[in-house]
Amino acid sequence: MSEAKSRKNFITDIVDKDIEVNKNNARVHTRFPPEPNGYLHIGHAKSICLNFGLAADYNGFCNLRFDDTNPSKEEDAYVQSIKKDVSWLGFDWQDRLYYASDYFEKFYEYAICLIKKHKAYVCDLNPEQMREYRGALNQPGKNSPYRERPIEENLDLFQRMKNGEFKDGAKVLRAKIDMSSPNLNMRDPVIYRILHLRHHRAGDKWCIYPMYDFAHGFEDSIEKITHSICTLEFENHRPLYNWFLEQTEVFHPQQIEFARLNLSYTVMSKRKLLQLVQQKHVSGWDDPRMPTISGLRRRGYTPESIRNFCDTIGVAKFNSTIEINVLENSIRAELNKSAKRVMAVLNPLKVIITNYPEDKTEEIEAINNPEDPSMGTRKVPFSRELYIEHEDFQENPHKKFFRLSLGREVRLRYSYFITCNQVIKDNEGNIVELHCTYDPKTYGGDSPDGRKVKATLHWVCAKNAYEAEVRLYDHLFTKTNPEVTTDGLDFTTNLNPGSLTVLKLCKLEPVLKQAIPGIAYQFERLGYFCADLADSTKDALVFNRTVSLRDTWAKVNKD
Ligand code: ATP
Ligand code: MG
Repeated sequence: MSEAKSRKNFITDIVDKDIEVNKNNARVHTRFPPEPNGYLHIGHAKSICLNFGLAADYNGFCNLRFDDTNPSKEEDAYVQSIKKDVSWLGFDWQDRLYYASDYFEKFYEYAICLIKKHKAYVCDLNPEQMREYRGALNQPGKNSPYRERPIEENLDLFQRMKNGEFKDGAKVLRAKIDMSSPNLNMRDPVIYRILHLRHHRAGDKWCIYPMYDFAHGFEDSIEKITHSICTLEFENHRPLYNWFLEQTEVFHPQQIEFARLNLSYTVMSKRKLLQLVQQKHVSGWDDPRMPTISGLRRRGYTPESIRNFCDTIGVAKFNSTIEINVLENSIRAELNKSAKRVMAVLNPLKVIITNYPEDKTEEIEAINNPEDPSMGTRKVPFSRELYIEHEDFQENPHKKFFRLSLGREVRLRYSYFITCNQVIKDNEGNIVELHCTYDPKTYGGDSPDGRKVKATLHWVCAKNAYEAEVRLYDHLFTKTNPEVTTDGLDFTTNLNPGSLTVLKLCKLEPVLKQAIPGIAYQFERLGYFCADLADSTKDALVFNRTVSLRDTWAKVNKD
């Protein structure tokens, strides 16, 4: 309960009041109820942190429940990925793993109970007629001609629906509520439909499946959930949620709605993410550009950074969009403290130190993390041939370019001052090599005579460089809200064609050969990177840039 105080929001206010009046014997029991029809995304992480967090803060429980009532889109592969992602985020459902499909028999009984009370009926209207009878927002609906079917006939027809005597769509079971309700959800909603489809767990046992609104409240009720937290779009469904539970006189959880997470420059609906995967705009659900948990994991996000992000954005009652840099800052802040610094050259330009002995290699001492001296130092090889970034040299430097140019002296990080004396070009005039001299008295990067240089460059020793592929990422979409398109075009028209840059022959400091996939490093001046969890092999690691060092890049680009 103590931690709850630090995470106050309107939901904890409700919970506090419930505890005060001893509602449900002051129990707090929540659930995270994903439909296994896609991979989890960062929006789900918000819901996971909220539900598991509340349970933890109030010494309660949180169930992981698969809401698997729609066999047309659900798969076991999704179940497995969801379990993996929830665990990875750091939450433990212990022995509380449930499947709505395990309740199919009970749902059926609740439906029978409603029929017996003449609160549900089998309807033969086709979908088009049903829409017509439904009316509109400002116009009441009309009763279905099947609404007053006798109870016995309903029981018989519903049984025969279950037995598979009718084709898909031939009949439905509907709740009998109020066709003139101002809330369209209350106008005799469908509660069961016929679907001759194999279910990923129940197999071919059922050919009728309950609708979400009908099933969901019962799932909560069966599990004795106290606070059923869902996103705002279900606010208009709450009267229906309550109606089913009241009519059947079962345990009645309280539905509470909160604002879903929206992030700039990305989309968050599973349907749209699936489209990106199916149309191969991305390499899969776990593409490091995707806002999925598995994508963020490959990108190099840690569970802590995602949990901290969810804490930072809080829980509100009104929808809004969070800037994606809030998410990026959460991982930056963490990696700044935890990631080892190394040097890597992404766009290499060869430098030959002409006055350095040909066969000599020095081991230069470098600091692993200036933020944390306890992380120690390491040795970095230095020899006559090195690589620096192409962008760190300009033959004709513009006014504000302070890095290397002909005749100019700069510092190589941790090692020496060098001066460029000659530029070597190929036949097409491209710069391919620089000839420089070093000043042996500047070892460690300081000049004993107090000489100043205006730039410090990172570098990698050519002889020992570990050559690897590095992937840089930008926003997946070019628009803050990709769903806004012109002329009714699809959201994919807003995809960012430059969201992935693959650099094949990067030169990395030799320690990176032993990098463990998923563990972050700061490549000095370039950002945070980690070896990719999916595409790395033992012989060939592939590195992803998790996030840039924003400020440094901003400065570099201004030069
Ligand atoms: P999507 O719209 O992305 O398909 P969904 O709501 O259909 O998501 P579910 O599997 O039904 O996906 O979601 C499981 C839980 O996660 C629900 O309780 C839902 O409210 C919550 N959730 C889904 N998306 C978000 C989001 N963007 N922000 C916060 N919670 C979310
Ligand atoms: Mg859903």
